[in-house]
Amino acid sequence: MSTPTRLLAMLVRPFARRLELRIVALFLGLLLLVQVASFVAIRSGIDDNARARIASELRTGENVLRRLLANSAHNLAEASKLLASDFGFRAAIASGDRLTLADALDNQAARIGATVALFTDARHRLVASTLPDAGRVLAIVQAGFGKRPALVDDTTVRMIDGQPFQLVTVAVRAPQLIGHVTMGFPINAALLHEMEEISGLKTGLVARAVNGDWAVLPIGEWSATLLAVNAHLDGSDVRLGGETNATRVVTLASDGAQEVSAVLLQSVDSVVAPYRRLQLMLLAITVLGALVSGAGSMLTARNITRPIKALSLSAERLGAGDYATPVEASSQDEVSELARSFEAMRRSMQQRDAQISRLAYWDALTGLPNRARFRELLGERLAQSGADARPCAVLMLDLDRFKHVNDVLGHAFGDRLLRQIAERLSGDVLREDDVVARLGGDEFAALLPQADADTACAVAARMRRTLEQPMTLDDHTVDVSAGVGVAVFPEHGADADTLIGHAEMAMYAAKSGQTGVCVYAPRLDTASQESLSLLTELRMAVDHDQLRLYLQPKIELRSGRVLGAEALVRWQHPQRGMVSPMRFIPFAEQTGFIRVLTGWMIDRCSARCRELSAEGLDLKFAINLSTRDLLDQDLPAKLERQFARGSVSPRSLCMEITESAIMDDPQRAMQTLQRLHGMGLRLSIDDFGTGYSSLAYLKRLPLHELKIDKSFVMAMETDRADLKIVRSTIDLAHNLGLTVVAEGVETEQAWALLGAMQCDEAQGYFMAKPMPEEDFASWMAHWAQPATRLRTEFGAFV
Ligand code: C2E
Ligand code: CA
Ligand code: CA
Repeated sequence: MSTPTRLLAMLVRPFARRLELRIVALFLGLLLLVQVASFVAIRSGIDDNARARIASELRTGENVLRRLLANSAHNLAEASKLLASDFGFRAAIASGDRLTLADALDNQAARIGATVALFTDARHRLVASTLPDAGRVLAIVQAGFGKRPALVDDTTVRMIDGQPFQLVTVAVRAPQLIGHVTMGFPINAALLHEMEEISGLKTGLVARAVNGDWAVLPIGEWSATLLAVNAHLDGSDVRLGGETNATRVVTLASDGAQEVSAVLLQSVDSVVAPYRRLQLMLLAITVLGALVSGAGSMLTARNITRPIKALSLSAERLGAGDYATPVEASSQDEVSELARSFEAMRRSMQQRDAQISRLAYWDALTGLPNRARFRELLGERLAQSGADARPCAVLMLDLDRFKHVNDVLGHAFGDRLLRQIAERLSGDVLREDDVVARLGGDEFAALLPQADADTACAVAARMRRTLEQPMTLDDHTVDVSAGVGVAVFPEHGADADTLIGHAEMAMYAAKSGQTGVCVYAPRLDTASQESLSLLTELRMAVDHDQLRLYLQPKIELRSGRVLGAEALVRWQHPQRGMVSPMRFIPFAEQTGFIRVLTGWMIDRCSARCRELSAEGLDLKFAINLSTRDLLDQDLPAKLERQFARGSVSPRSLCMEITESAIMDDPQRAMQTLQRLHGMGLRLSIDDFGTGYSSLAYLKRLPLHELKIDKSFVMAMETDRADLKIVRSTIDLAHNLGLTVVAEGVETEQAWALLGAMQCDEAQGYFMAKPMPEEDFASWMAHWAQPATRLRTEFGAFV
């Protein structure tokens, strides 16, 4: 996962989850708040309302009770007045007829339902009574008058023998006051019942001595129940029969010693009950509302957060490297805008990813897999081959002289050539399963599944043949050739790197051995290991001044004069002693190190040349150039600098170039030779006869000298064919206007023969072996032309 998208996913995901929760919580919270507030408000409203209603009902109840009492008091008063105005009754008073009085009292009381009736005289002495013992009532009446002496027509409630009575006293006048009629009836269950009927309030009666405990009077249905609460009757609620009741205590009478009160009870519960139902309904609606709005807000939250969640998933996918799934934006809101930005980001990431993998795995020039991809494919194939126990081959192919093509014809041309080569290789050479890759530069590789070494070699040969067919680009026809190395699984390696390495090694061997195709063998490995350390050592050789210049004289056959010397390199190795150039020159050529070596040689020869010319010796030094030197752009420039500096004159140097070096790349060789020739350098073709260059071709080169290869010279004394070759070469060279040098002159006879055949110069052990440069002057001083005679058997040949 790339870091920014991972971060984005991390940020967005909990946000989406939290957002959903927050939306739901907000909705529900608000709803609940409103509901609770209204619930509380309604509830307190209901309570206040109920209380007010109860209070008013209780007040009304009190009024009703008082009215009932007033009514009955009125009845009593009317009956008493009627009695008082009754003539017979008055007459009985006047006559003092107690029996008649008692009768009249009885009759009147019975008529209105009074249980108490008595008559007292003007001084409140009992005259007649319906009660057997009227003492208690009389005391009350007298007490009442005691308090209010002027009292007439008084009504009061009094406890008589544990029972409340309503008493009314009416004065009897004739016309002066002659006495009082007092009538009373008990406040009983019937009254309370009536009270309850009218007011709907439960009513009980209580009494107490002033400031003592209330005692319940056993009248009516509720009084007994009141007993249970032991009557905390101070206007607060009481629990009765499982109900809460509001109370109102109505004091009916208080005479300083005793108090009689009615307790009015209204059930709070029954008043509140309809409201409670309403409240329950409200609660149900609240719960239902909460549920519905919860679900709704959840749904809304889902709707809001779903695209955010989808985005977060997308970000996660992007982070995990999945750039294929598009990010969808369905609506037109801000989240979708974000999604669209995401989508744009995904696309550019996808493109970049594709580009990166293209760059990482494909060669931009040829469209072939690159080294990394090839390694991967090979690894996969090996895993499969290993499982199937089937062989599998790797071919490594390196073009010859490609650098030269690049240098001469330009990189654009080189690129097009590489493209054509890639097409040829992957086009007609390989089977469908095979893979061709460009590993870099002019190096190609092929993976041949299920191929053994023989098959691989056959394919390699076919590849080389295909490449050898001339390629024409613009107007140039280019000959392409290549060395191919082969390594086969499992013999030559079990893993991709080893196989590639071994195929590469085989390829180098094929190139250096000019064999075209080479199959890996373990000995190549050690050879290349040695080579590697050799290269390191060689570099050190230059830095630590271990190279030596050896000189071998070149002598004019006719005069015996020393014309110059061939410069040959030696390596004074700290451990191995003096190392022959044959041991390291081929390697130096292969690795390109030869350019360093040639540079060293030019410097060294120039210096020696100056020294010798200072001693009056005017000599030519022949320096060997190899193929790589001919391709080296810097060489002519380097020589030009030397000449410009005046450290050496072009006339003092000769360049020896082998036939094969020229034939490796004739076009290029021609250019370099022409340039060197233009500088006034003497040019010599070395080892002549070992290659296949035609003299006709040589004619076109700007040459001065031809060196017959030492193999012919050394053999000519014994091999007539070689002798003929030497002779005809001398003739032909002379015809082309070239000086002829014979190398490998080891004997006096060879010297004589060459002289007889008109060869111009000779070089060889017979005259001198290559010697350290510092010995050369003294050798010259001792040099004398050999006086020789040609043996007769050679007479016929010269
Ligand atoms: P070459 O250019 O053909 O050099 C002549 C070789 O023949 C020298 O071997 C020399 O010692 C040997 N030789 C000369 N006269 C006789 C003879 O009478 N009999 C026999 N058997 N050999 C004779 P050397 O010095 O070992 O060099 C071998 C090759 O190494 C040279 O062959 C040349 O190709 C290469 N070489 C030596 N020095 C250099 C150098 O500085 N640069 C380059 N590019 N190549 C060099
Ligand atoms: Ca030479
Ligand atoms: Ca030679």
